[in-house]
Amino acid sequence: MRIVLVGPPGAGKGTQAAYLAKNLAIPHISTGDLFRANISQGTPLGQKAQEYMRAGQLVPDEVTIGMAKDRMQQPDAAHGFLLDGFPRNLAQAEALDGILKADDLKLDAVLDLEVPEDEVVKRIAGRRMCRKDSSHIFHAIYNPPKTEGVCDTCGGELYQREDDSEETVRKRLEVYHSETEPIIDYYKAQGLVVTISALGKVVEVTQRAMAALGRD
Ligand code: AMP
Repeated sequence: MRIVLVGPPGAGKGTQAAYLAKNLAIPHISTGDLFRANISQGTPLGQKAQEYMRAGQLVPDEVTIGMAKDRMQQPDAAHGFLLDGFPRNLAQAEALDGILKADDLKLDAVLDLEVPEDEVVKRIAGRRMCRKDSSHIFHAIYNPPKTEGVCDTCGGELYQREDDSEETVRKRLEVYHSETEPIIDYYKAQGLVVTISALGKVVEVTQRAMAALGRD
C-alpha cells in the first residue's frame, strides 16, 4: 500500500505512522524525521533545513522533494510506504504524483487525522521524543513514560522538540491551514481521502485507521 498521512501538527501522525507501518509491513517515511537526522549529523541539507524548522516554516520544495524522492526509491519502499509529513503543499503533492506516475504507480489512500485545535496545543506542549528512535513518542500527561525522561522502549533520552514551543506551534498551525490543508481537497478530487478522528487512546486511533483503510 502507498499511503499519505495528513493532519495538523500534534494530530499524532508520527505515533500512528509507527504502528500503522508495522501493521501494514511498509516503511514509515517521515520528512520531519529525515530533516532531524540530517540536523543531528550536521549535513549541509540539515543546516539548510534547520532555520526553516526553527521558524515553523516549510523547508523549500527543491530540498524537500529531492530528499523524499530519494527515500521513496530505496529498496525497502519498492512495495509500499507510509508518508508522514509529505506532501505538505500542492507543489509537493503534484511532484509526488509525477514521481509515482513515472513508475506507473499511484497512491492507495490519504488518511486524514482530525483533531480540534485546542487539543493540538495540549498535545504538543507535553510531547516528548526519544533521541535514539524518533518513532518512540510520549506525552508528559496522556502517555507518560514509566521513568520521567527515559524512553520505555529503548532507554533513550526523551526531549522536547525545539519547534514545539508555543510560538512556533502557532506558526506551524498557520502554515498547516494555508499550505497543507488544500492538499486534502486535491486528494478528495481523486477519491483518495479517508478521514478519521484522532481523539482517544493511541490504540483506538490505530484500530480506527486500520478499519478506514479496510485492513481491520
Ligand atoms: P514534522 O516532524 O512532520 O512535524 O516536521 C517538522 C518540520 O520539518 C516542519 O515544521 C517543517 O519545517 C519541516 N518539514 C517536514 N516535512 C516537510 C515538508 N514535506 N515540506 C517542508 N517542510 C517540511
